[in-house]
Amino acid sequence: MTTLIDDFNRRVRYVRISVTDRCDFRCVYCMSEEMTFLPRAQILTLEELSMVARAFVELGVEKVRLTGGEPLVRRGIAQLVSEIGTLGLDDFAMTTNGVGLVKHAQALRDGGLTRLNISLDSLDADKFRQLTRTGDLHKVIDGIRAARDAGFERIKLNAVVLKGRNDDEVVDLVEFARREHLDISFIEEMPLGDVSDHSRAETFCSSDEVQALIEARYPLVPTTESTLGPSRYFRMADSESRIGFISPHSHNFCSTCNRVRVTVEGRLLLCLGNEHSVDLRAVLRRHPGNMDALKTAIVEAMPLKPERHHFTTDGDVQVVRFMNMTGG
Ligand code: SF4
Repeated sequence: MTTLIDDFNRRVRYVRISVTDRCDFRCVYCMSEEMTFLPRAQILTLEELSMVARAFVELGVEKVRLTGGEPLVRRGIAQLVSEIGTLGLDDFAMTTNGVGLVKHAQALRDGGLTRLNISLDSLDADKFRQLTRTGDLHKVIDGIRAARDAGFERIKLNAVVLKGRNDDEVVDLVEFARREHLDISFIEEMPLGDVSDHSRAETFCSSDEVQALIEARYPLVPTTESTLGPSRYFRMADSESRIGFISPHSHNFCSTCNRVRVTVEGRLLLCLGNEHSVDLRAVLRRHPGNMDALKTAIVEAMPLKPERHHFTTDGDVQVVRFMNMTGG
């Protein structure tokens, strides 16, 4: 089996596939309030998305994550999951804002999805609405419980921490995760897209600061557990919940990078923090159904993969594209 190795001898074992740029939220760190979404003709069909996933699996990728925008707003998402669910993946995951889980959780589980990451940045309904601009906290909590009832284990919350916005809730979020038997990762905001809501220089909150807030209440013990993602995990002595930190600024993880992304337009993005990419949609539409042509394009893209990102915390926007194009 051909495997995907870049020029820094890093093997790509994980692909994140965005199935839509649309979302029913407008999170302040992800996109601006007014967004223009891609026309239907420009986005990959469900068949093309399924083919992309199969191509990566045939090239040795062990983990596929479906993202957005919000993947559960994509019509036919359960069908796409059931197709990818036949590829024999040990780790088939999705990142969602949780609202659509009451409707979809059982079908996703039955379709072969193995893990869920659910975004939750606040437990205060008013603040939650401010941070998401449109979101209803209770629908997300109902979604979390529906996912658990559908049989998902090790559900993980993702919380982006903004100083002066939700850093005062870090311990509350940990306690919610403990009560609900969930894992939780705290994420340093990444400077993708020119967000209008806040100054990233002012709101940047490092993982070390977040960890200190938690350790004032719960001592953390580092663990070597991994989910093939960038989280550094810690354990608490009296809980099975795992605490993770995703720290692109304060604990750079590019040297062990094992992933690439595909946008819903079919752009193979070699790195979240750069624009190096290859147009897989052109290959898919020039050679419909031709798996060899698609796999060749993916293999030939590997030398383009940059060594690392060049993010700063001073609020400068290095990458113009908003986070909703890749879903993190
Ligand atoms: S920023 Fe780029 S190189 Fe660094 S971990 Fe992310 S995708 Fe990999």
